[in-house]
Amino acid sequence: MKAGVLTGPQRIEIRRVPVPEMAPGMLKIRISACGVCGSDIHMWKAGKGWSPEPLDNFHMGHEFCGVVVDPGDSGFQIGDRVTFWANLYCGKCDMCRAGKEHLCRDVHGTNYIGFVCNGGYAEYFVGKAGNAYKLPDTVSDVAAGLIDPLMVAYHAVRQSSLKLHDKVLVVGSGIIAQLIGGLAKKAGASALAMSRIDERQTGKAREIGDFDAYFDGNDPDRAAKMQEASEGGFDVVFEAVGAGESLAACMDGVKPGGEIVMIGNSMTPTVPFELNRAVLHEVRLTGSVSCTRKEFTETIDLIAKGIIDAEKYVTGILPLDQLQHAFEKQISPAESVLKTVIRL
Ligand SMILES: [Zn+2]
Ligand SMILES: [Zn+2]
Repeated sequence: MKAGVLTGPQRIEIRRVPVPEMAPGMLKIRISACGVCGSDIHMWKAGKGWSPEPLDNFHMGHEFCGVVVDPGDSGFQIGDRVTFWANLYCGKCDMCRAGKEHLCRDVHGTNYIGFVCNGGYAEYFVGKAGNAYKLPDTVSDVAAGLIDPLMVAYHAVRQSSLKLHDKVLVVGSGIIAQLIGGLAKKAGASALAMSRIDERQTGKAREIGDFDAYFDGNDPDRAAKMQEASEGGFDVVFEAVGAGESLAACMDGVKPGGEIVMIGNSMTPTVPFELNRAVLHEVRLTGSVSCTRKEFTETIDLIAKGIIDAEKYVTGILPLDQLQHAFEKQISPAESVLKTVIRL
């Protein structure tokens, strides 16, 4: 089969590799589509996955769907359209037993399909049937490529204290930031603003039209403008970048007694933070990662029921042969990529 193999730093080659073999408890699919994720970029830059031992013909991809070609003993039927939840949770630890599979003691933020084992940038995939979910007909292959970022946004909104008529600020302009905006509007935000440093990425957001206001994250008068526009601060602020500077922008926008929900992963182990301001203003800090297994199925349902139109957020659809190009585009300062989906 064809696969987009990560052969070195910033290098993907389309190679012929063996079709993965079936095993008990597994399911084999012919892949239809796979979304390109920001977290893939880190592995692409490093030229390797997160598996402790190097894998043969390692190919990434964790935002994929396909058609069952061998159901094994799973109960799925040949021809079923399925997507896989990438989270390789153990199912046995205290977190898993409490329905918090995203906090599984075995996962550590990297134990995902396409991170520690081969993923969806290939023609076929074999994975644990327990991680597979049937796709309703109203979820297209391309939309299925958005389930992974949407689940992150969905969990973040549910982690927050957001109530009807609250004012919401989203710091960041990437796909997660924009999906959080879309969901926050659905959840009843009365005013929705975005703080961003890259104007090009907001093109899609302006086209979709959920956000009421935009702030320039580099503006020295940022704090005053945010406080004025929100008449004293935002009730809930989402941090969807993962940097000290964007956390500072959250602090500038949040209202006393308000909440900052942190979704962005930092590339450095520590970031500067105005501790006293958070304490004196009783700002609540909430972490948010991935989603629970239950929320994963609910995310599929959000798309299936048309509560969120996932395809609106797609900025490019490319064939597998252009996977290297898709990654180059993703980091190019001249491009404005929100979400690329690879069609197979
Ligand atoms: Zn992803
Ligand atoms: Zn577990």
